[in-house]
Amino acid sequence: MKQIRVRFAPSPTGFLHIGGLRTALYDYLFAKALGGACILRIEDTDQSRLVPGATENLISSLHSLGLDYDEGPGIGGDFGPYVQSQRLQLYQQEAARLVANGDAYHCFCTAETLSEMRTQQQERKEFVKYDRRCLHLNKDEVTARIEAGEKHVLRLKMPDERIFAFDDHIRGRVEMDANQSDDQVLLKSDGFPTYHLAAVVDDHYMQISHVIRGEEWLSSTPKHIWLYECLGWQPPEWVHLPLILNPDRSKLSKRMNDVSVESYLQKGYLPEALLNFIALLGWHPADDRELYSLEELCQIFSLERVSKAGAVFDLTKLDWMNGHYLRSLPLETVIERSKPYFEEQNLPLPQPEVLELMVEAARERSQLLPQIAEYCRIFISPAPLSEADTEVIQSENSQKVLMWWAEQLPPQFPLNAEKVDILVKEGIAATGLKGKAYYTPLRLALIGQPHGPDMPTTFAILGDDNALGRIQSHII
Ligand code: GLU
Repeated sequence: MKQIRVRFAPSPTGFLHIGGLRTALYDYLFAKALGGACILRIEDTDQSRLVPGATENLISSLHSLGLDYDEGPGIGGDFGPYVQSQRLQLYQQEAARLVANGDAYHCFCTAETLSEMRTQQQERKEFVKYDRRCLHLNKDEVTARIEAGEKHVLRLKMPDERIFAFDDHIRGRVEMDANQSDDQVLLKSDGFPTYHLAAVVDDHYMQISHVIRGEEWLSSTPKHIWLYECLGWQPPEWVHLPLILNPDRSKLSKRMNDVSVESYLQKGYLPEALLNFIALLGWHPADDRELYSLEELCQIFSLERVSKAGAVFDLTKLDWMNGHYLRSLPLETVIERSKPYFEEQNLPLPQPEVLELMVEAARERSQLLPQIAEYCRIFISPAPLSEADTEVIQSENSQKVLMWWAEQLPPQFPLNAEKVDILVKEGIAATGLKGKAYYTPLRLALIGQPHGPDMPTTFAILGDDNALGRIQSHII
């Protein structure tokens, strides 16, 4: 069997987005499941769309998600360089071969000419495509115009009559008529290749076995197959991933929504949850299970279980999944990852043992990392009581509860869980109050809100003197 080699080929035009991450993840899972290699290739041939720092950002996002590639910028490999702008000579060399064989031709049409052509075709309700007016220029004229420095591009000459048929791992047998394809520009006037030429050349030279990419590229596949044929190469296998949709089934768009992976990480989504969630955007496991670690996914992922129907991006599900991972990851991991949010919310970090207790309580009640720090505020510096709560805590019954505790606590110091449990019961008996009437004043005094962790945990987090102080300060 031929070696499995896949590539994730982002253009450095911004942050890694959800769709890009899905492609990168499926590349990774497919390669890992079959013992193949995963390659990162930077497709930076559209010089006008380059965003400074985007490549570094893409790499760091992949890295923070644990999607390590086997070959690529920074780490190298046998098929480098892995940045297209460093491979221009190769594209030009293959383009020259296409011209020599009559499979590509120079086109001198200006932007105005092309736009006029488009308007006229639209008016005549024709398929909009280049009308090949430069195809028949004679050789001498072409040479003369090039030598005179006239701006030009190189176009692929598509066959006139041809049905392109190919097997796609997800879409099955696909057939497309060549006359629905334009004579694609291969080299632009700045000498840079377009995506189409560069991707085909690189996929060939990098020995890519499977091209896994978004469905938006499906309609370009005939051009690519034709290029492979003209260049005398064997095409790779095709895998076109389904669209990602909003819940209203519109296409998840980079413009409409916040789709950058970086922003999800910053908002406090965990890499584990994001990966698990994204894995399910198109791929379905054999059973109904939804929670998978990256390692598990690597073992069971297969292209056969990717559907061609659009995959709905359901934020509620991501939130639910994130909550699950907050509760199930090792506590130390959650503590480490929530620390920056304490700083962001100006909350001083308590002693490690106390922080551990706090985060343990908080993660049961949070879905996102920042909510952990937010929740811990009740232990570190609770907000002043609202008017309504102040009224509650100042009622006769509430005061009875607080006074009982203020009296009983000091002789029991140092407290422990057992002692607190006993005190809770004794307090109920002594005050004759129970349920809300008993717990609400106690919690309002201790943590500034009527709900919270159990009493032993609350006392352990606050510490003896602090807890007593908070109770005393609410006695009028
Ligand atoms: N550079 C293309 C993109 O960012 C890659 C498409 C492909 O994987 O072939 O969409």
